[in-house]
Amino acid sequence: MPFHQVDSIRFFSFDIFDQAGIPQAIFTRQGGVSPSPWKSLNAGLTVGDESANVTENRRRSFAAMGKDLSSMYDVWQVHSNKIVCADAPRDLRLEILKADAILTYQDDVTLYMRFADCVPILIADPRRRVVGIVHAGWIGTVNRVLEAAIQRLVSTYSLIPSELLAGIGPSICVDHYPVGPDVAAQVRQSFGDQADRLLLERDGKIHFDLWKANRLILEEAGVKNIEMANLCTACHTDDWYSHRAEHGLTGRFGALIAIK
Ligand SMILES: [Zn+2]
Repeated sequence: MPFHQVDSIRFFSFDIFDQAGIPQAIFTRQGGVSPSPWKSLNAGLTVGDESANVTENRRRSFAAMGKDLSSMYDVWQVHSNKIVCADAPRDLRLEILKADAILTYQDDVTLYMRFADCVPILIADPRRRVVGIVHAGWIGTVNRVLEAAIQRLVSTYSLIPSELLAGIGPSICVDHYPVGPDVAAQVRQSFGDQADRLLLERDGKIHFDLWKANRLILEEAGVKNIEMANLCTACHTDDWYSHRAEHGLTGRFGALIAIK
């Protein structure tokens, strides 16, 4: 079963990582302390919720995984294709780095990111003990942040793409994701011949399939072991925050991965 419950915290995990002994979780919005419209396990500090609520929500989330918040490494997610390699938990006294992928081989680090429709992608090499987390909305997808992360895993950690495990997490489905002609043009520029598979026409509007696009990036990079959550944030706002479905007035759900 992909869903788990620990105390008040309900979270999703990928079978391929569970079977490989890689701790990871994509937390639903249930079991936290934030009031509406962030109800209740909001992980985002920039959405109007009180920081004390966010800290308690993050503490509960980490505790459900047997982790301490002091192990956290997070970034300021800016829809870029920048990668950060975390060699230690983030020093909270230092300025937070802007990036949209974090990688680590340190077993005292817990990688952590926040989402509400954008695609969470978890990556691990269970044999060489390296993990990563990627944030890809449409901008990150057309700028191929996931491809950059795989290239970095190869260049920095000497990993082999065919040995990686990857999970594409809860995010907005193609039916709920109409895009404008400017976005469609950038999809065509980034994906070339493949773009027709990723842009679908529904009721006279063009929709972008973020799940399939990121899966394609993984496959083109040589990643074979891919698990799709196939869970839409906009279809299930009881479990997930959705920027689109909730018209921007919502929280962010957290996701984490660690080596052990
Ligand atoms: Zn949907």
